[in-house]
Amino acid sequence: MNPSSKESLAWDNLRFELEPWLKDAIASLEYPTMTPVQASTIPLLSGNKDVIVEAVTGSGKTLAFVIPVLQKVSRRLYSVPEGHDRAEVLKRGHMLAIVMAPTRELARQIQMVFDKVLGFLSDAMTPRIKTQLLVGSLGNVREDLDNFQVEQPQILIATPGRLLDFMSSQSIKTSSLEIVVLDEADKLLDFSFETDVVKILKRLPKQRRTGLFSATISAAGDTVFRTGMNNPVKLSVKTRSFLGEQTNAPTSLQLSYMMVNPEHKLTTLLSMLKQYNFKKVIVYFPTCTSVKHFYHVLTEVDQDNSQLRYFSLHGQLNTKSRLKTLEKFTEGDNHEDSNHKYVLMTTDVAARGIDIPDVDLVIQIDPPTDPSVFLHRCGRTGRANKVGRAVVMLNPDTQEEDYVGFMEVKNIYMTKMEPPRHQNDNIFHQRLRNFMLADRARHELAVKSYVGFIRYYSKHVASSIFRMASLDYVAVAKMYGLLRLPKMPESKHIAADQMPEDGWLGDAIDMDEYAYGDKVRERARLESLDRDKVARVENAKRRKELKVKNEAWSSKNDKKEVKSERREKMKRKREKIEKQIMDEQERGSDEDEAEEDWKDLVIKNKKRKSNGSALQGSFDDL
Ligand code: ADP
Ligand code: MG
Repeated sequence: MNPSSKESLAWDNLRFELEPWLKDAIASLEYPTMTPVQASTIPLLSGNKDVIVEAVTGSGKTLAFVIPVLQKVSRRLYSVPEGHDRAEVLKRGHMLAIVMAPTRELARQIQMVFDKVLGFLSDAMTPRIKTQLLVGSLGNVREDLDNFQVEQPQILIATPGRLLDFMSSQSIKTSSLEIVVLDEADKLLDFSFETDVVKILKRLPKQRRTGLFSATISAAGDTVFRTGMNNPVKLSVKTRSFLGEQTNAPTSLQLSYMMVNPEHKLTTLLSMLKQYNFKKVIVYFPTCTSVKHFYHVLTEVDQDNSQLRYFSLHGQLNTKSRLKTLEKFTEGDNHEDSNHKYVLMTTDVAARGIDIPDVDLVIQIDPPTDPSVFLHRCGRTGRANKVGRAVVMLNPDTQEEDYVGFMEVKNIYMTKMEPPRHQNDNIFHQRLRNFMLADRARHELAVKSYVGFIRYYSKHVASSIFRMASLDYVAVAKMYGLLRLPKMPESKHIAADQMPEDGWLGDAIDMDEYAYGDKVRERARLESLDRDKVARVENAKRRKELKVKNEAWSSKNDKKEVKSERREKMKRKREKIEKQIMDEQERGSDEDEAEEDWKDLVIKNKKRKSNGSALQGSFDDL
């Protein structure tokens, strides 16, 4: 049988006899055929095999595990031998299936696929098959536990942290579990989740089925063996491009790159958003803070954006608004008869699994730090054989163009594309500067996102391509709208002739006069400024006194001591005085406001760096 022929992919040819209601439900979904990954996975996982499934983005992996899970649950609930009470088949506190996913959005989406199929379950079938979503910051664990006891769902769909909390309750019994699925398994098995996931798996019965799914499962390496699978079957569904090369991206997806100087990235992005023909685009930014910052910039600085509808989605928003935003973006304005284009600005929190049918363009302002995420980001478009385009911007005059060859080794092929004609940069940058000058808080956010970006850049796995030494720090700072470069250790890479005077990227401004837009905040700033001034005067006085003391001391001892002894004593004394001054500086700062801003940043940055756990949870920073 040729597995890719239309005929062999007919649902009737599925090599497994599903429960009758499930067969009918699938027919009602109106997918003309199975996808190849569904044809090969469903029979194995519904039967008695553990599977490791690697198939390109948008190839229908969700249904490839949803059907086997429903099959197992139905069999257990509805094939009850004569004389047994159906209501008794699953005891209170027990569940039959668990599906894990790395993000709340993805977990919710998987639940929606389950519920869609379950919508075709006839009312006569009891007990009902139910799902429950367990994700962070949506209600609390207590409520989850209460719901579980009242509703008695057999299928849990969860992010690992919340699931572990949930399972730590005595009332939760895992001994009836039949199947566990890890969607985006390589992510669930990497350092950010592995500990929790392994703990969860250890608590599940050994006699169960396990399914691992991802477009990039090879990235998980040996950790898959920690999942306790029994003789798993490895299914790898690859595609061939029109040129016959094996590719790891769906053939319906056209990948390109563009060389753009950071200084022009924003205006290039704006031109693409305006000139390109698309319905929905996802634009990837490096960090949460940069999404917040650029969301304000794009919606407020660009005055000619009536056609564009912007949405921002990142990990610092609470779960409710994250899900709401995604829902709104997914819906678009179906009701309005307009030609709006929808722009979702986000981070890698929305890189994996998210399935929004009309996303026809993906733009990456910078490549992701982890090369396997590249495919996941691009894979938000070109799904289920629909055409999609994905563009990544790379920095010229660095080694970044090598990224293209680097990805080819991973069977990912990109073509070069010229940036679109862009609008007048000067006007935009002038507006951006005015926008910054109008509120000190905007600039603080800009500086924070710039520093965040530099940290992000240093975390690139392919560090020989993304070199700290060749990044154009000044151009990046201009892109972020900074008025002045923050002082940070990385500034050492800036060549002396490139370093703007005193770090100012335009005319210097008086930082004491630079006001917050928020009145309360501004009043507090002015008050603390006054206090600082008093401290500064006192400090200067003290410094002078110490200096006088020092001079007096040296002249008194001049004659009595031999030279070498004197030098030694002088040195010790000087160090003591210096230390005294330093200590005082730390208490009441002797530096001017702006310098203080700079110093703060560096200190904060250092603190974060030394705080290993902050890096550990990096997925939550997104
Ligand atoms: P993956 O997890 O492999 O990235 P999804 O499971 O999210 O992909 O599916 C991508 C899209 O394909 C979804 O919108 C889904 O509705 C659609 N789809 C799933 N199965 C089929 C099928 N058999 N035929 C056509 N489209 C399908
Ligand atoms: Mg998926």
